[in-house]
Amino acid sequence: MPPVDDATLQRWMTELRLIALRDQQDTMLDEAARAKLSYCELVALICRREIDSKLTRRISRRFKYAHFPMHRELDDFDFSAQPSVDEAQFRELESCRWINHGENILLLGPPGVGKTHLAIGLGRAAIHQDYDVKYTTSLALAASLSEARDQGTLEACLRAWSQLQCLIIDELGYLPLATAVGHLFYRLVAARYEEGSLLLTSNRPVAEWDRIFGDEVAASAILDRVLHHSIVITIRGESYRLREKRQAGMVPNTASIGAEPADEGEGQHASA
Ligand code: ADP
Ligand code: MG
Repeated sequence: MPPVDDATLQRWMTELRLIALRDQQDTMLDEAARAKLSYCELVALICRREIDSKLTRRISRRFKYAHFPMHRELDDFDFSAQPSVDEAQFRELESCRWINHGENILLLGPPGVGKTHLAIGLGRAAIHQDYDVKYTTSLALAASLSEARDQGTLEACLRAWSQLQCLIIDELGYLPLATAVGHLFYRLVAARYEEGSLLLTSNRPVAEWDRIFGDEVAASAILDRVLHHSIVITIRGESYRLREKRQAGMVPNTASIGAEPADEGEGQHASA
């Protein structure tokens, strides 16, 4: 084979999408020389690096696509401050077996107790294990589905949302949805049923979901499918931020500002 100049070689590697080899060619050759690798071992090294770098780039694309509103990790969650959350259960969920088994998670609890934090933490863990994940809020999803319906692209939109391995819908229940939107949610849940996992968070107990979806029939059809293979986790206690501020003496005790009279500690607020 005639000698090939550097620029041509770089072009070939780009064309073949051998990005790791293109960018680390000198390092890999040095490494091979130092370790006295055989030709075969060198080819294996190149393949390994290429696979690793493709995975790294894919995961970074998945993170961009997921659109998490903030960076939260399970490792940063203070489980000791939230006794109603079982750390061992979250460590198990971190393994993503629930996604493999097509299960759903419902995280229920009052505002500020860490639902979004835990949802993002689990979503990030799933992306690190190469699952495709998307985060959205119920209101953003409602807007996206309504827009698709108005533009006549609802079927394609439902297909796209239902193909995800893990869809996180945060903040169900902060604002009630119009009945027509409740029906769109039902279409989405039905399309995803036994196809991919849902992680839902809500500050409302499931008994009140007919108010979220503006329609009792839609709510029970949604619940029926969501609860079928599901892990329901109810978080109790007070807002973490409020608790931190109160501990720092920045806000008075809840009892003195007219909230439910309660002892210090967990459980003084109604659970979801
Ligand atoms: P929710 O979604 O239940 O309203 P968030 O997850 O948004 O609550 O939590 C509010 C803030 O408090 C976030 O910044 C979150 O990271 C933090 N937070 C809540 N609970 C904990 C906890 N147990 N350990 C560490 N940070 C927490
Ligand atoms: Mg939240």
